[in-house]
Amino acid sequence: MLTEPLRPIIYDLHSHSQASDGVLSAQDLVLRACERGVTVLAITDHDTTAALAAAQAAIDTHNLDLTLVSGVEISTLWENHEIHIVGLGFDPHHPAMKELLHQQFQRREDRAVMIAERLAKAGIADTLAGAREEAGDGQITRAHFARYLIRLGKADTMAQVFKNYLARGKTGYVPAQWCSIPAAIEAIHLAGGAAVVAHPARYQLSTKWLKRLLAYFAEVGGDAMEVAQCQQAPNERQQLARYALDYGLAASQGSDFHQPCAWIELGRKLWLPKDVVPVWEKFPALAAPDRG
Ligand code: AMP
Ligand code: MN
Ligand code: MN
Ligand code: MN
Repeated sequence: MLTEPLRPIIYDLHSHSQASDGVLSAQDLVLRACERGVTVLAITDHDTTAALAAAQAAIDTHNLDLTLVSGVEISTLWENHEIHIVGLGFDPHHPAMKELLHQQFQRREDRAVMIAERLAKAGIADTLAGAREEAGDGQITRAHFARYLIRLGKADTMAQVFKNYLARGKTGYVPAQWCSIPAAIEAIHLAGGAAVVAHPARYQLSTKWLKRLLAYFAEVGGDAMEVAQCQQAPNERQQLARYALDYGLAASQGSDFHQPCAWIELGRKLWLPKDVVPVWEKFPALAAPDRG
């Protein structure tokens, strides 16, 4: 009997929709993931799971060959650094998760007011309304302030607007009172999921501090770290794989897709070096359905 050749299994366990600072709707995100050959997708919006129901509904409506894993990217504060912890495969309705995300929502709301106040003092008025307009119904982030400032002509690119206004130490930067890493891990675990350090190489930590972060994360019960992204410095993936082994963490991979662009794409260049334990092997609930 002739059978269709199976597509390779591609996991993309980090992506954003309009529920936070991604530009695609939940439906367009799953359609695009499927087109790009992704088999298992986690939507990991900043401190919200609001896209998950619509994403699953779109998969069902269009009968897509795509498995959705519940996800979230939680902002935490560790040693004065903002560290992102991805949760995967948890129950989004668990009270502990809902409570934590509600607190994070309130922190984002409070911070947005303060960012706008700081920008107003620097002579740029009414950015809160502008950023909210950019955010629509989604969770408000600095990316929405950035897009509004670009719309105002204050900068040409996201990199520039962060560098000039929104990065740490700049006019519009407000240190946020995010939850702790153990608090994020606890909520993820109570809800039955896996806790993953997002993009470990992007915090501009020295090697010594990065190792401290990973050792601490493992010590307080964290499960995995991202090892593969589509855009990485040469050797970064191998180095991160080495750390995953050293600290006994499983390995995850994800594009951190926010919008169609030339460099970052759903499912692109996502593979793990040999020897690491893929997070979907440590947590079979994340694994692609058996196609045998
Ligand atoms: P927030 O979580 O509200 O602090 O917003 C952080 C988000 O802003 C990140 O998830 C990125 O999507 C975006 N972002 C941060 N820094 C930059 C940058 N230098 N260039 C472009 N986007 C950035
Ligand atoms: Mn983002
Ligand atoms: Mn992040
Ligand atoms: Mn992200």
